[in-house]
Amino acid sequence: MKRFALIGAAGYIAPRHMGAIRSTQNDLVAALDPNDSVGIIDSHFPEADFFTEFERFDRHLDKLRRNGNGVDYVSICSPNYLHDSHMRFALRSGADAICEKPLVLNPWNIDGLTEIEKDTGRKVNTILQLRVHPAITELRERILREPKDKKHEVDLTYITSRGHWYLQSWKGAEKKSGGIATNIGVHFFDMLHFIFGELQENKVHLAEDTRAAGYLEYEHARVRWFLSIDINDVPSSVRAAGQRTFRSITVDGHEIEFSGGFTDLHTRSYEEILAGRGFGLEENRVAIETVSHIRNAEARSGGEQHPFVS
Ligand code: NAD
Repeated sequence: MKRFALIGAAGYIAPRHMGAIRSTQNDLVAALDPNDSVGIIDSHFPEADFFTEFERFDRHLDKLRRNGNGVDYVSICSPNYLHDSHMRFALRSGADAICEKPLVLNPWNIDGLTEIEKDTGRKVNTILQLRVHPAITELRERILREPKDKKHEVDLTYITSRGHWYLQSWKGAEKKSGGIATNIGVHFFDMLHFIFGELQENKVHLAEDTRAAGYLEYEHARVRWFLSIDINDVPSSVRAAGQRTFRSITVDGHEIEFSGGFTDLHTRSYEEILAGRGFGLEENRVAIETVSHIRNAEARSGGEQHPFVS
């Protein structure tokens, strides 16, 4: 049984990590969050120690380590801009890290982490859950079997409406979340690279607080993408059916069906990590370079725009 600590225990995604630790028959021994709304811990690990101050959490983990009882993994569910610091803490504490997406906001943050991996002999693992989604792995295998010069036409549309709270929270602050293309899009940009190979071109057509769009070219695909958290972008027929989310990925006009099989992808990711097959720092580099470029590029209309860009 492996021993875990968790950073960011009071947030939205933390219960998925607690569930994954439990489903893989491991133990959560300590958790940290400056916010103490963490009653959810009782549903999973009622014996876990909890801290609202980093220094006390650090002291506790250090004591466990010196007593030969240290934690094996630190799971990181904190806001995006804190990930690199929390990963450094995990590695220096003698544990491996399991970090939520996006791993970091900028590619050069990866270089510093690589050095700390070498110094400590510990590893960073990341949650790239679409890489373990059965529909995505099947599509990747299909593309790998095709002739090397084949290029597909892909349209990616993801509208996941969020209330007014979003822009007031850290998720709405570009310096903390990286903005919508980083915070929401990184899943898909990593998936596109995973399926279609190396990134060759990256153009931005739209960059707003609630919407972003652009064009990406990979070895095996030309991709028009559109992301939004604005309910007004959900097509009216979908809204009329009471839906607040619209997700579509078409490859050469054919819809890729992957709405099922989403629920236990954190547990699947943990199983892979525990078996020594976790995705590490370098596997994140292309997606982080992609979102960093999108964040810093000048948005210009023209070229191969997604049809939702008005
Ligand atoms: P959230 O705001 O609900 O939770 C973040 C938590 O971190 C909060 O409880 C907050 O109090 C805590 N926190 C803030 N500063 C901290 C600090 N210095 N030390 C420790 N904890 C601190 O956000 P969320 O939606 O749970 O997102 C958390 C992470 O998970 C983000 O990186 C996000 O991108 C990622 N996420 C991943 C998925 C996925 O599908 N893989 C989905 C949602 C979010």
